[in-house]
Amino acid sequence: MRTINHWINNAEVGSTSGNFGPVYNPATGEQQAQVGLASVSEVDVAVAAAKEAFTTWRSASLSRRAEVMFNFHQLVVANRDKIAELVSIEHGKVPSDAAGELARGIENIEFACGIPQLMKGNFSEQASSGVDVFSIRQPLGVVAGITPFNFPAMVPMWMFTNAIATGNTFVLKPSEKDPSVTLFVADLLRQAGLPEGVFNIVQGDKVAVDRILEHPDISAVSFVGSTPIARYIYSTGTANGKRVQALGGAKNHMIVLPDADIDMAADAAVSAGYGSAGERCMAISVVVAVGDAGDKLVDAISARLPKLKVGPGTDPDAEMGPLITREHRDKVASYVAGAPGEGATVVVDGRENDLPEDGFFLAPSLIDNVKPGMKAYDEEIFGPVLSITRVDTYEEAVNLINDHQYGNGTAIFTRDGGAARQFQFDIQVGMVGINVPIPVPVAYYSFGGWKASLFGDANMYGPAGIDFYTRTKTVTSRWPDPATSSVDLGFPRTR
Ligand code: NAD
Repeated sequence: MRTINHWINNAEVGSTSGNFGPVYNPATGEQQAQVGLASVSEVDVAVAAAKEAFTTWRSASLSRRAEVMFNFHQLVVANRDKIAELVSIEHGKVPSDAAGELARGIENIEFACGIPQLMKGNFSEQASSGVDVFSIRQPLGVVAGITPFNFPAMVPMWMFTNAIATGNTFVLKPSEKDPSVTLFVADLLRQAGLPEGVFNIVQGDKVAVDRILEHPDISAVSFVGSTPIARYIYSTGTANGKRVQALGGAKNHMIVLPDADIDMAADAAVSAGYGSAGERCMAISVVVAVGDAGDKLVDAISARLPKLKVGPGTDPDAEMGPLITREHRDKVASYVAGAPGEGATVVVDGRENDLPEDGFFLAPSLIDNVKPGMKAYDEEIFGPVLSITRVDTYEEAVNLINDHQYGNGTAIFTRDGGAARQFQFDIQVGMVGINVPIPVPVAYYSFGGWKASLFGDANMYGPAGIDFYTRTKTVTSRWPDPATSSVDLGFPRTR
């Protein structure tokens, strides 16, 4: 059985804990590898390597750091098919979807290539007589990232690109469900010229995460995953004095107003609801049909579903792959099973399919008449299940979304510019799409939801990423003329 190792000081390091986790091929259900799960002392070794590397790396010139990012960018682009294949075989998403994930990750490398510009501070000449004031950005030290299974290549890139470019050293704890791709990417960083110890990986589970949260040499933690764990990471990490950004789960609504182009809205709902088998934190989970849009949408979406090709990533025609584990597949299916008992209508039942039984497949489901108070509405499903909620007015639709515990992404489909503008003003959600179903911000903006979708006040990547991974030092400077020196016990003034 192949064993997936840690990565410390630019080399693979085998786990010594004796604990391993299974890594499956979700399309066949077979265990294809095992991943070593780090003990506390193994985490300590990785953190010590990062701490040792920090002094040198923070002193590397900005152009040197930019050069490594440029080299890394070239290597990732040259290896994009291989990376997509590695993602597909452990996560299950089809290679085109994995390539899309990587494309969004590459945007973050491009952004970090601009690090000399991004690290600029401010300078005020003559703040007082002969006094200049300026601010500089400095890295924090050793920072850690803890990432989810659903974007094993992209989400780490949201974090380590900016963290490293700003001069920090990094310890990544990837999801134990699909950890291989990060090792491949780590080797590309080595080939790009990144010195030993700047980027490290500890494979592991709660033991490794808890050690990261309490380790005195880790200054900051970036987390992406489910809401209960995000809440725990935020409270534990901040209690231990760390800077923490913790992104959680989601329930993304897409409002369709009666004036919308129904075919365009249905295409968008199918892409955003079932792409990557619904295992996206920005997936559309609920279509809120306003007025008479409901019947038309149910017809248009259900007509599209039989044409959606579900299959393994090795099938070039497959558009949607399996779910990550058997347990998760069964949990997602349970929302469909429970829907009629709560008063909803199952229009398309994805449990009825002729997909390979050993794989963790579930075909797309569509549930109509879903309302608040039902499990399928209140909870994050994270699978290929789209709900339709019917309301009479725009106001009802907005209230529904604003009352939901999550506030990650949302979208409105309409031809009315005034309604769309009102929506962007009214809605209590962090990322908003206007006729765009998955409004993941480009890398030079920042990513973050509201409410239970983000703990802490720092969004991820882009300008917010630079802020998160640096702290500001403000220098007030004078080169005095000894002839004018005198004692002054007052508070320094500018006039
Ligand atoms: P998860 O919360 O189960 O795991 C995320 C990470 O936390 C993993 O590295 C895992 O090893 C670790 N972890 C799990 N349980 C832990 C525990 N008890 N103590 C400490 N660490 C623990 O999430 P997942 O299933 O890998 O990913 C899916 C979730 O991530 C969904 O809820 C999805 O919405 C969310 N997500 C959010 C975003 C976002 O940007 N907001 C992006 C992607 C995924």
